[in-house]
Amino acid sequence: MNTQLLPSPGTGTPTRPAHGPAPVRETGRFAGQHRRRLLRADALAVTAWSSLAASVALWLADGGLAASSSPAGMITALGIVAGLAGMDLVLLMLLLAARIPFIDSAVGHDRALEFHRKLGKPSLYLLLAHGLLIAVGYGMAEGLDPVSEAAALWVLVPDMWLAFISLALFIAVVVTSLVAVRRRFPYEFWYAVHLLTYAAVLASLPHQFSVGGLFAVGTWQRWYWLAICIATGAALLYYRIIQPVRATFRHQLTVERVTSVAPGVVNIEMSGLQLGSLAGNGGRFFIWRFLAPGLWWHPHPFSLSAEPMRTGPDGHGRVRITVRDLGRGSAQLLRLRRGTKVAVEGPYGLFSSAARSKDRVVMIGAGIGITPLRALLENTPFAPGQATVLLRGHSNQELYLGEEILELCRQRGATLFHLTGGRDPGSPDSWLPAAEHRAGYSLEDYVPEIAHADVYVCGPSRWAGSVLKAARAAGVHEDQLHHERFDW
Ligand SMILES: Cc1cc2nc3c(=O)[nH]c(=O)nc-3n(C[C@H](O)[C@H](O)[C@H](O)COP(=O)(O)OP(=O)(O)OC[C@H]3O[C@@H](n4cnc5c(N)ncnc54)[C@H](O)[C@@H]3O)c2cc1C
Repeated sequence: MNTQLLPSPGTGTPTRPAHGPAPVRETGRFAGQHRRRLLRADALAVTAWSSLAASVALWLADGGLAASSSPAGMITALGIVAGLAGMDLVLLMLLLAARIPFIDSAVGHDRALEFHRKLGKPSLYLLLAHGLLIAVGYGMAEGLDPVSEAAALWVLVPDMWLAFISLALFIAVVVTSLVAVRRRFPYEFWYAVHLLTYAAVLASLPHQFSVGGLFAVGTWQRWYWLAICIATGAALLYYRIIQPVRATFRHQLTVERVTSVAPGVVNIEMSGLQLGSLAGNGGRFFIWRFLAPGLWWHPHPFSLSAEPMRTGPDGHGRVRITVRDLGRGSAQLLRLRRGTKVAVEGPYGLFSSAARSKDRVVMIGAGIGITPLRALLENTPFAPGQATVLLRGHSNQELYLGEEILELCRQRGATLFHLTGGRDPGSPDSWLPAAEHRAGYSLEDYVPEIAHADVYVCGPSRWAGSVLKAARAAGVHEDQLHHERFDW
């Protein structure tokens, strides 16, 4: 076992720190925050399902069933219900992507986006069904085939041509978001097409209020539908545009120093104002834009690798990220100049003390994924002997910020393991170096009490998947697993 344990690092033998692991006795200090977070997540799920039920209830309350006595009426009714449910899902998708702090702090940014992605196909299918069923239903009532009916709707019914364009835009957005298609295009292309969602929603709105009687002037259904559309638009405007612009002006971030950590990896230190309110909780990530020629339009998600440090009055201070050249844009950041202004959005994510549920904590990182653990280790609460840090890399040089982490572990009484070396070619899915894997080590050998700990994992996705699997097998409950993904 290639280990480095405190307080006697570098012995090469698996000894425990002087104080040893603290016995598992929960003070329950995180129980309250954990319960509140689960309640918030439940409340969100109930609200989402209720909004879907409400969209159908609008139609029922308007006597929708009574109007669907004939086959044509029934098909049209199904089309209307599909349209209402589809639009409701689209609004939910927009809210999940709006970076609303309540949602972010309940389920985390990545899970919110995961739900957002999951709703893509069902909402598109519902909207397609809406268009198709309406064309068939209206066509049957008027003695026209669906294609002629669709053409008649486009030409004769006001606002309907916009609805057709909206549907075409939705198709483009969902198709370009499919993983297989998305990977073929640069991020910027996918992002630009994704922005069409807003155009699609706006184009779909006029026909919802001008065609049919459900949302006629004076009905309460019209007010409800208007209210949820306006609330969604306002949340997007505030959290995606106004809030980031305000944060950028408030904090006045400027690049102070770019220093090398390892080949292709740098620390970017920035100075700014009121940094106390920038990140109350270590380990969260921000979206950064470095306002230099050719770079200003690149939005980069990077985690803090050190807590904001106060250096003067009025919250004057420094903040730091650690960046690896994982692509064309991030490689350019290695040559950033002192004095470059920085726009910031965030904090986002739940890779912080806000996710804690247990007194014990285990942090497992590989490669550049080690760096957010450095910030987390700095300020997440634990008693000496209650934290374990496992760092994984091919070589010591790849254990980025390893010296700083070692020093923090010393100061705070955390146990540290360095796991270096190549993978076992026979078991590429093992998260351990080949020697440890062949020797039969498991996660519990490093952290016997892992089932009673919060486990934070950050690193390459396949490796992180193996760690999460091992943690689950060791009895760690899903709520105790906190994973930061660096890919998208
Ligand atoms: C939550 C999170 C935290 C991260 N923290 C770190 C960190 O601390 N250190 C580090 O080195 N790397 C981190 N990454 C990875 C880092 O964001 C990407 O490696 C980097 O943005 C790639 O940019 P690129 O231009 O070099 O790559 P390309 O693949 O060429 O990307 C092109 C464009 O896509 C944008 N982009 C790429 N990935 C994302 C994404 N996930 N979300 C939004 N826009 C994206 C880039 O900003 C750029 O404009 C993190 C990623 C995420 C999702």
